[in-house]
Amino acid sequence: MSKILRINMTDQSHKWENLPKKWKTLAGRAFTSTVVAEEVDPTFHPLREHNKFVISPGLLAGTTAPSSGRLSVGGKSPLTGGIKEANAGGLTATRLGKLGIRGIIIEGKPPEDDENWYSIIVSKDKVEIKQTNDYAGIGLYDLIDKIWEEYDSRPGIIGTGIIGQRLHLNAGVFGNNIENTDPSRYAGRGGLGAVLGSKRIVAIISDDSGCDRPEPEDEELFDTGRKKLVKALNDHPVTGRLKDEDGAPYGGLKNYGTNILQNIINEAGGLPVRNFAKGQWDGAAKISGEAVHELVDETDEKFGDKAEGTYGHPCHPGCIMACSNAVPDRETGKSIVAPLEYETAWALGSNCEIDNLKHVATLNRLCNDLGLDTIEAGNTIAMFMEAGEIDFGDGEAAIELLKEAYDPDSETGALVASGAKVAGEALGVDRIPVVKGQSLPAYDPRPIRGIGVTYATTPMGADHTAGYTIAAEILGIKGEVTDPREIKKADLSRTFQATTAYIDSSGYCLFIAFAILDNDDGFAGMTETVNGFLGTEVDVTDYGMHVLEIEREFNKKAGFTKEDDRLPEFFYNEELPPHNVAFDVPDEELDAVHG
Ligand code: SF4
Repeated sequence: MSKILRINMTDQSHKWENLPKKWKTLAGRAFTSTVVAEEVDPTFHPLREHNKFVISPGLLAGTTAPSSGRLSVGGKSPLTGGIKEANAGGLTATRLGKLGIRGIIIEGKPPEDDENWYSIIVSKDKVEIKQTNDYAGIGLYDLIDKIWEEYDSRPGIIGTGIIGQRLHLNAGVFGNNIENTDPSRYAGRGGLGAVLGSKRIVAIISDDSGCDRPEPEDEELFDTGRKKLVKALNDHPVTGRLKDEDGAPYGGLKNYGTNILQNIINEAGGLPVRNFAKGQWDGAAKISGEAVHELVDETDEKFGDKAEGTYGHPCHPGCIMACSNAVPDRETGKSIVAPLEYETAWALGSNCEIDNLKHVATLNRLCNDLGLDTIEAGNTIAMFMEAGEIDFGDGEAAIELLKEAYDPDSETGALVASGAKVAGEALGVDRIPVVKGQSLPAYDPRPIRGIGVTYATTPMGADHTAGYTIAAEILGIKGEVTDPREIKKADLSRTFQATTAYIDSSGYCLFIAFAILDNDDGFAGMTETVNGFLGTEVDVTDYGMHVLEIEREFNKKAGFTKEDDRLPEFFYNEELPPHNVAFDVPDEELDAVHG
C-alpha cells in the first residue's frame, strides 16, 4: 500500500497520509507536478515558506522492471519561476519504492531565528527530522562519506550542497551513486537544490532494511512485459549488451556512455561550441565517450586491480543499460569523477572549448562537490569567457573560477553559482542562451530544429530531456531519420514531450526510448509492466498530455505567455557554421505544440 509522507519544516513535524484514490496512477513527475500545481501558489516566491519540495520515486521503483529506479523531485523553480521536475538515478528511488512511499512533500520553513540545519531520515519503522549542523557547509564528497559511515545500511542519500544552502540559483539536488563513491546522481536542473536549502535541509536519508519489493497487482502481465522489455533493451545496438558474439563492443551506451554523442553531434554540425558560436570543433574527440573508453582500457592494463576507471556501470540498482562510467586519471588510475555524461562533457568542454579530458573531469568533480548543475555551470563559465574575463579553452582558469564558488564572501563565486542568465546579464553579455531563465543543453537548435521546438515550448525551460527529438532527428527510429532541418516540428516535439512525461512518471530511464521506439515489443513491454503493476490500463499519450497540461497551467498562472515559448534572439539572426543556418521555425509552429 503506497503512502505519502508530509513533513512540515516550520515545526519539524510529520504525518502519514493515504494515497488518494484519484492519485493511484500518479508517481514520479506526474506526482510532483500534480502536488505542486494543487498546493503551491504559482505567484509566490520559490524560496519562501509557501513553496514545497516534492520527492517521488517512479511507479515501478523497487520492482524488478529493468532500469526503473529514477527519482523525481519537483517544486516551483527558483531559476525559471515556473513548475519544475528533475529526475536522476541513485539509490533513493529504490529505497523509497520498497518503503512503500509514493511521495514525500516537504513544506514550511523553520522560523527566521532558527539557524540550524536539518536532515530527514526515513526507514521502515521511523521518520526522524534531525538537527545535523555538522552536515552543512562541507563538500558533498565528504558529506556522503560521513553519512555512509553513520548508517550501515547503504542508505539512499539526496540533498543539497553549499550552493543550495546559500540559496544560489544553480543549485542541483544531488544523490549518491551505488557504491557511494560520488555525489553525482544529479536532479540538477531548475535550481531545486535551493528550495531544499530554503527549508534548511541538507540531506534526506532513506533506509529500506527489512522491506520487501512492491507487488504488482497483475503479476502475470507485469512479468510478460518485463521479459519483453529486457529483451528489447539487450538486443538494441544503443541500449544493448557490452559485447557481441565475436567479443567486439556492441551496446553504444554500455561501451561509451551518453558521451558517445560528442562525436555524433559534432559530425552532424550541431555541437554547440564556444558559447553557441560554432557547430563543429576538432577538440570533440578528445573528450568523447570513445576517449574515456580507451583511457579506461589503458589504465586497466597499466594498474590492474588498482585501476578505478570503468564503463558499462549502472546508476541505480537494476539498470541493465548501464551507461555510466568513471573517468580515471591517466597517471594514477584513480577515478577523477563518476560519471562524465555527454551534456556535462559538452557544457564544461566543447561549449568552453576545453579539450583536456582531465580538466573537464575535474570541473565535473567540482560541480558535484559544490552542488551545481553541470549544464548550467558550463554555460555560466562560457558567459565569463564571452565577457573576456577568462579565455575560451583555458581549462585551468575555468577550474580556478569554479573554485571561487566555495568562498561565501566571493562576489565572483556568487555569480558562478547563479546560472548563465544572471551571470551573463551582470557581465554585459548579449548572447545568453536561455529559455525561461534556464540555459540550453548540448544540441544547437539551428541545424536540429525539433530539439529547438522542445527547448522553446516545454514547461521546464530549455531542457533536452523534456522531449528528446534527437532520437528521431539524428539517431533515427526504425532506421528512418526525420530531417533535422525540417521546420514543421510541432507534432514531433509534442509527441516526444507527452511520451517523456509518461516515462518520467513510470520510473523508467528515458534511454529506454531508443529500444521501445524501434521495437514494438519493447513498447508493449513498457506499457504492460506499468499496467500490470497498477492493475489498470493507462494510455501513454493521454497520461503524458495530462501532465503537460497541469504544468502549462501552473506556468500560465505564474505569468508565462506564449512569448516565453521562444528562443533567444541570436539563434534567429546568427547563422551557425558549418551549415550556416539560423533558427527559422515560425512562431505559429511553436504555438501549435500545445495549441
Ligand atoms: S541508462 Fe544510464 S542514466 Fe539511464 S538509468 Fe541506466 S545508468 Fe542511469
